[in-house]
Amino acid sequence: KMNTGLGQHMLKNPLIAQGIVDKADIKPSDIVLEVGPGTGNLTVRILEKARKVIAAEMDPRMAAEVTKRVQGKPEQKKLEVILGDVIKADLPYFDVCISNTPYQISSPLVFKLLNMPRPPRVSILMFQREFALRLVAKPGEELYCRLSVNVQMWATVTHIMKVGKNNFRPPPQVESSVVRIEVKNPRPPIDFEEWDGLLRICFVRKNRTISAGFKSQAVLDILEKNYKAYCSQNDMMITDEINISAMVDKVLKDTELGDKRAGKCDEADFMKLLYAFHMAGIHFA
Ligand code: SAM
Repeated sequence: KMNTGLGQHMLKNPLIAQGIVDKADIKPSDIVLEVGPGTGNLTVRILEKARKVIAAEMDPRMAAEVTKRVQGKPEQKKLEVILGDVIKADLPYFDVCISNTPYQISSPLVFKLLNMPRPPRVSILMFQREFALRLVAKPGEELYCRLSVNVQMWATVTHIMKVGKNNFRPPPQVESSVVRIEVKNPRPPIDFEEWDGLLRICFVRKNRTISAGFKSQAVLDILEKNYKAYCSQNDMMITDEINISAMVDKVLKDTELGDKRAGKCDEADFMKLLYAFHMAGIHFA
């Protein structure tokens, strides 16, 4: 019996399984992380090409099944199964990541890969179609959102294949897509939390102006607290009457981004904004 709470939709179309593995361009020296091997449809194909496969599986019955599938075969010694939640696991180094991803962990998995101390060369990941399209969306497009800007800051993402729901057993409710994620190397010299913090404010309502997001008192309170912390860390005098709202307005005016809508801004716009805030001593994390 499948545990659908774990997103257990097995890929039954061998052509697609092979297509996914081929897209990863695995070298004989590669260590591959497979997230959620399930019954092993992708695993056996990865094992043909890689030096080693680390398969992280949360369901003990599935872990047993994939282990059984290679038992007594030469590939057995190339497969290491990690039993548990991949998001919480302390992962060793790997060159490539492949996953028919359980949709519940789509976002945490992407950010885990982006934040690895030594990120994989390439990740080939199956997601729900809409999530995949958000990852690749460009400014002005309907699905462009915080996830799009955030991921595209740290990685190059390409949509490589559409996969219909009938290629799975049991079929999921929505269509899927496979994407390729290549983490930029070297990493852009920007603090992840600062970048994400700015984007969270700008994308509360992506079709409203950026200024509107900064009108919230809760946001201003946090920025004021961060500003005071920044001043004391840098031995700067804090005057009693800090007008954080006026400071924010000045940055938005000087950058001419206050009247723009987040949904229309690109990476360069947000970088310019973050830089200007930092120059004014305003921080987001
Ligand atoms: N790779 C197989 C295939 O393509 O046929 C199975 C894919 S199925 C969509 C997702 C698999 O991920 C299931 O076997 C499920 O038990 C496992 N899984 C779900 N959540 C997980 C997690 N947090 N960490 C590791 N594995 C997980």
